[in-house]
Amino acid sequence: MAGYIIETKENKWEVICGLEIHCQIISKSKMFSGASTVFGADANEHVSFVDAGMPGMLPVLNERCVHQAVKTGLGLNAKINKYSQFSRKNYFYADLPQGYQITQFQYPIVGEGKVLINLEDGTTKEIGIERMHIEQDAGKSIHDIDPKKTFIDLNRAGVGLMEIVTKPDFRSPEEAGAFLKKLRSIVRYLETCDGNMDEGSMRCDVNVSVRKVGEEGYRTRCEMKNVNSVKFVMSAIENEAKRHVEVYENGGKIEQETRQFDPLTGQTKVMRKKEFAHDYRYFPEPDLPPLVLTDEYIEDIRKEMVELPDAKKERFIKDMGLTPYDADILCENKEVAAFFEKAAQGSDGKKVANWIMGDFFAMLKARHLELEQSPIKPENIGKLVNLINSNVISGNIGKEVFQIMAETGEEPEKIVEEKGLKQVTDTGAIEAIVDQVIADNPDNVAAYKAGKTALAGWFVGQVMKASKGKANPGIVNKMIAEKLK
Ligand code: MN
Repeated sequence: MAGYIIETKENKWEVICGLEIHCQIISKSKMFSGASTVFGADANEHVSFVDAGMPGMLPVLNERCVHQAVKTGLGLNAKINKYSQFSRKNYFYADLPQGYQITQFQYPIVGEGKVLINLEDGTTKEIGIERMHIEQDAGKSIHDIDPKKTFIDLNRAGVGLMEIVTKPDFRSPEEAGAFLKKLRSIVRYLETCDGNMDEGSMRCDVNVSVRKVGEEGYRTRCEMKNVNSVKFVMSAIENEAKRHVEVYENGGKIEQETRQFDPLTGQTKVMRKKEFAHDYRYFPEPDLPPLVLTDEYIEDIRKEMVELPDAKKERFIKDMGLTPYDADILCENKEVAAFFEKAAQGSDGKKVANWIMGDFFAMLKARHLELEQSPIKPENIGKLVNLINSNVISGNIGKEVFQIMAETGEEPEKIVEEKGLKQVTDTGAIEAIVDQVIADNPDNVAAYKAGKTALAGWFVGQVMKASKGKANPGIVNKMIAEKLK
């Protein structure tokens, strides 16, 4: 795509952006305790002594979380580190009763990887993954129950997180947005994180700096924490980059700091001066041994990998005749892709894709239905396309049949049979209607013959109407042209 450049009178600036994404791991219990991770329970219902930071409690690593992290690492085309280590990140916060977070620092479980993002113009770009480590989540402070008090809910304390850190490879808000969508799609395919940004199970920190086009190296960056939607991430990058440019052009200096993005104004404001790693006095977690994985363990997980969106997209393009754009849309969601494949089986892939992305999605949207609530079975879309392709019904009648399918859930053949919608290809029957229309409209016949040949379309329309849409439009067209010659 064309670069995203901020132009001023004197300079051209480019945006440099990297993302850090916290993904809540799907597992029944927390990372270092047996407490449940179920969402929406009463406050402090799922808190073990470990989660509450009681003195003398020992964390026990939940193997499920490790499994999910390795699977995600493989999905990010990343190196899985057979040796990793937990560290303590020390800081005080009321919703972190331990006084430290168990995380990974020097030795993360996942190393470098890469993710392809799909841009709107149909091109792709490779984004580097720096690392991914696993750590425990903190609890929640609730400020809006009492005007003077803050309440603490520790249900989330200790839930497993995967923190994915990208390289500073994004050069536009669009690229960052595309990455978040792709990452969400991958973790949902893998079922390692539900990817719901609005529920906080995927949270994004955004690092932004700018530099003049052609300049080497990086300038000071600022970080915006917990930006909670793709749209807000894109807006935060755009606004923060503009702020940097303005500061530089006015001869100012950007300080490394953590800023808060306000979704209402689109502006960012300073929260605190950026802390550095040494502020946390990381040290190896004494209560947990290093995490050592075997090749066999990793290979067993590799065996349960499902086909991911990139591979599926390639296959849909190659085997089913889809365009990259169609394939991107149909592959973003695993359930949609499976629905499409079922529908396209024994039918025309490209046409089935058009029906699904057009009338079918519109029908679901209009009725506020999720895919799994669809009244239309996927194989019936394939059958409908076959009826049109083999000229049993016309495309227009196909739309009518589709509406009835959406009402009744019935098979298209049955609907066509019962409602008598089969296309009339019997030339004798069509000819009778054509003759009638010509006989009924002598004025238009005369006008046509006098040179107003655009009236041919009007005649075709009259015949189609008289046949209730069932006449084969190809035959009607030809016949009108011949009869009016
Ligand atoms: Mn973190």
